[in-house]
Amino acid sequence: MPAASDQDRTLAEAAGLLAGRRRLLVLLGAGASADAGVPTFRGTDGLWQQVRPEDLASAEGFRRDPQGVWAWYRQRRWEIAQCQPHAGQRAIALLQRHLGSRVLVATTNEDDLLERAGVDRVVHLHGAIFNTSCVANCGWVVDDRLDGSWSYLTCPDCQAAVRPGSVWFGEEVPSRVLVRIEHFRAEACLVVGSSSLVQPVAAIAPEMALAGRPVVEVNAETTPLSSVATSLRGRAVDLLPALIDLITSATVRERVMSTVGK
Ligand code: NAD
Repeated sequence: MPAASDQDRTLAEAAGLLAGRRRLLVLLGAGASADAGVPTFRGTDGLWQQVRPEDLASAEGFRRDPQGVWAWYRQRRWEIAQCQPHAGQRAIALLQRHLGSRVLVATTNEDDLLERAGVDRVVHLHGAIFNTSCVANCGWVVDDRLDGSWSYLTCPDCQAAVRPGSVWFGEEVPSRVLVRIEHFRAEACLVVGSSSLVQPVAAIAPEMALAGRPVVEVNAETTPLSSVATSLRGRAVDLLPALIDLITSATVRERVMSTVGK
């Protein structure tokens, strides 16, 4: 049998840090959906190389050109609908099935790939692209994935214009989602495919690491989080199935428990 590689050892070490924790927070960024074919934002092929975020992902941009913004969002909705969840996203669903309410899955991604992979109760930190909501903030919001037709209409409650359900530049992450994460009181954190430059990931994960709680990062590149986390370098589709297999392994869990007990 071949000896374990450095990569295997790092995977096992990372799994050992997360296994057996009572409350595990999983935070996902654009890199977690990249292997399903959804483009990231900041990379060399990222969306912001092609378009200006302030034109298409801001309230000001929407005021200037609502039709142009909607055309871009309809195109992105259509492209995301063509993508299929990858093995790493399906592994997150298995992790949740295994840990139940001991895991909280939160993402800055607007797509629905985690839900389609079978993950329940996904916390969308930056909104959901298939939602259409009222631009006047009257509270009306609808799941518009069936055919996108609400995007052509007005708010049925207050007749204002409607907008994509994304959290745009200059807008706050909804406080109710931050409260959910706070109340969860995670003991450990797994961060997948996030640049760790966007809030709230940029604050939550380093704060946990600096407080001495285990943080594992899965990312294709080095990020600001890498220096304070245990970093696994590679693609989410390659690393997550093996990592989650180990986290949910009874052998790993028992070994962690026996070490903690010593
Ligand atoms: P990003 O594009 O900035 O970074 C992607 C990260 O994923 C990088 O660190 C990259 O190395 C990594 N990565 C790429 N491919 C990978 C793979 N296959 N496996 C593992 N890692 C991989 O995306 P981000 O950090 O998620 O930040 C973008 C966020 O910013 C978006 O979620 C978006 O919501 C937000 N944003 C907000 C607005 C807004 O209007 N408020 C607008 C644009 C973006």
